[in-house]
Amino acid sequence: AKLMGTNRYSFYSKELGAQLRERMTRESGLHRALERNEFFLEYQPKIDTQSGIPCGMEALLRWRPTAHGNLVSPNEFIPILEETGMIVDVGSWVLETACRQHLVWQQAGMADLVVSVNISAVQFHAGNLPETVTKIIHQTGINPALLCLELTESVVMQDIEQTIATLYQLRELGVKLSIDDFGTGYSSLNYLQRMPLTELKIDRSFVMNLPHDENAIAIVDSVLNLSHSLHLTVVAEGVETHEQASFLTERQCHQLQGYFFSRPLGINAFADYVDFSCRS
Ligand code: C2E
Ligand code: CA
Ligand code: CA
Ligand code: CA
Repeated sequence: AKLMGTNRYSFYSKELGAQLRERMTRESGLHRALERNEFFLEYQPKIDTQSGIPCGMEALLRWRPTAHGNLVSPNEFIPILEETGMIVDVGSWVLETACRQHLVWQQAGMADLVVSVNISAVQFHAGNLPETVTKIIHQTGINPALLCLELTESVVMQDIEQTIATLYQLRELGVKLSIDDFGTGYSSLNYLQRMPLTELKIDRSFVMNLPHDENAIAIVDSVLNLSHSLHLTVVAEGVETHEQASFLTERQCHQLQGYFFSRPLGINAFADYVDFSCRS
């Protein structure tokens, strides 16, 4: 009887959870957002420290509900997309849209920039990410070497053996693989070296405290050393000042991203930014 009670309780609570989530998406309007074209992407430039010019961009999802004209922060709506599983479809939309835009820019004569797309844990563990990526590469015709998938440490430290297999499948397609927000999770170095990664991104929380905080310097230095010895590209995110940019450049950080260079930009502003930086 006790067991049955326990089961019944968890059954009802699951049911209730699902209802609550459904209500949340209905009321926030997220369930229709794709059909209503309420999502769009912005692109934040990534700067190569050797040449000083843009070498890539990160696609960032934006949501403007038709009901009210303001943007809702991704930190608010992405968790709901994840809890409801809607992130799988929305994530595919982001991938496809970023690849199509990339191709438009390439055909317009823009340099070979690498476009980075964020992949949620739910999307990664949904099981068919390699198929989805394959389909999108074929449909859009993007050069896979110019596509980078950003995964967080928590994504890749779950279910390690399956994760490594999936990463190899993705890498075989020719796409680049980056660990986002590096340093905030609990990566095991032993596992990291078994993963076919191409890039580490130092989290903004460390970059923020450069160049004077000794703890931040120690952490940033160790990520730079690790990246250099594993032959990974290393990117710093959230670079906001000239001092941070020169500190990181001196220490051979390969790429920088942050408000010091540019905020995330709409399509036209991004094209103008690249055009301008490559001329001046
Ligand atoms: P993230 O992947 O770490 O992306 C970087 C975030 O930092 C972006 O916030 C960007 O606008 C912001 N940022 C860039 N430079 C600076 C800077 O110099 N200073 C400060 N203070 N912030 C800076 P955003 O666009 O609000 O996105 C927040 C998070 O939402 C992202 O963090 C990412 O985890 C998630 N996200 C955004 N787009 C997508 C998406 O298409 N799919 C998934 N799964 N997640 C996404
Ligand atoms: Ca990211
Ligand atoms: Ca990040
Ligand atoms: Ca971050």
